[in-house]
Amino acid sequence: MHTIEFQKRGLPHVHLLLFLHPDNKYPSSTDIDKILSAEIPSHQDDPELYRLVENHMIHGPCGILQPNSPCMKEGKCSRFYPKQFQPQTLLDSNGYPVYHRRNNGHSISKNGVIIDNRYVIPYNPKLLKKYRAHINIEWYNQSTSIKYLFKYINKGYDRVTAVMLSDSDNVAQNVNIQNDELKEYLDCRCISPYEAAWRIFAFPIQGRKPVVERLYFHLPDQHNIIYEDHDDIDDVLSKPTISDSKFLAWMNTNKDFDEARNLTYSQFVSKFVYNKRNRSWQPRKKGYTIGRLIWDIRTVANIQYPTYREACFAMGFLQDDREYVEAIKEAKDWGTTNYLRKLFVLILLTGAMSKPEEVWNQCWHWLADDIAYQYTKSTINSEVQINDDTLRNLTLIEIEQLLHINQRSLKDYPTMPYPQDINLTSYLQNNLVLS
Ligand SMILES: [Zn+2]
Repeated sequence: MHTIEFQKRGLPHVHLLLFLHPDNKYPSSTDIDKILSAEIPSHQDDPELYRLVENHMIHGPCGILQPNSPCMKEGKCSRFYPKQFQPQTLLDSNGYPVYHRRNNGHSISKNGVIIDNRYVIPYNPKLLKKYRAHINIEWYNQSTSIKYLFKYINKGYDRVTAVMLSDSDNVAQNVNIQNDELKEYLDCRCISPYEAAWRIFAFPIQGRKPVVERLYFHLPDQHNIIYEDHDDIDDVLSKPTISDSKFLAWMNTNKDFDEARNLTYSQFVSKFVYNKRNRSWQPRKKGYTIGRLIWDIRTVANIQYPTYREACFAMGFLQDDREYVEAIKEAKDWGTTNYLRKLFVLILLTGAMSKPEEVWNQCWHWLADDIAYQYTKSTINSEVQINDDTLRNLTLIEIEQLLHINQRSLKDYPTMPYPQDINLTSYLQNNLVLS
């Protein structure tokens, strides 16, 4: 998937996320070295590549070499350059790659400063030669980091809130005019001429392949209806959506098509496509889609249960707190970590878990990964690892804060651990708010 963004000075750039077929993955550090380099090439062996890296793939200089570089925030480079020399590519315990940057004497002169491999932005030599432009390539293999990439490439535009002020002369003349303070604030974003032209010509701004189809499900007569505040109730009730939903249409398709009956709801989208206008599913002619749902129906081992809950019980989902672990586990692949913590707190507040500490023990790592990420980012050396005890404690502090909003505390759940040094709170707030 990709999105196109426009930088402050106007030029477009693309964020592109590619998923490799299982046969074509590059799982080991030797594989990564085949497609990625974070080093200055030899000037003798490949003068063309050397020139391209010099022009497009050098960060800064910043740090002590150039303390007033725009990337410097509070005395540190916000992009963590210079990196450290690294004899070989390796994957750290979180699965993040640390690319090789050997101390091999290769150097480039930029803005009158001699710089070495520690300032090279990772690139692919072939792509760099083909497009002759800045193309930063990074390798990722962890579902957690991929989740953040999605967030990053969809982060939206830079915005500014501006306030309109009248000068004092006008105020004197307009004393009788009612001021609407809300209207005095403008929510603005900057559009450069390049971007304006891009949009006028309707060039693509984002793309995604394959399509992800959202599958809804609901209990009988309990599907969601969307209507406006001022809609007439009779109009709302006569809408076709009242009697139909994507889910009910799926049931109907199962009546008409034998082959549909062998597919679960989520497999179903690979063979059928939903037609919004007819509110029906039709056999798919080409392409494929990923369905998002795990579905099982009220019949378990040939016994039909009167409620879905009982069917879940028969499936073994409700015998213990496993359903809560499963709920959090399922949500971890699509929810932000902040959402997961809220989910855990919500389950805590309902008092539904018989042993919350067991659920915590099984799930806390999923509730912590942005904290680990922020912690690593906030330290000078981005390769430093946070230890489990600190991480667990920081996560507990977050949980405690969420409980406080609901006038509760971890102390209300005696079997749950309680955070040790609650003063770390300010550190967390700063970082999580920033994120
Ligand atoms: Zn920098």
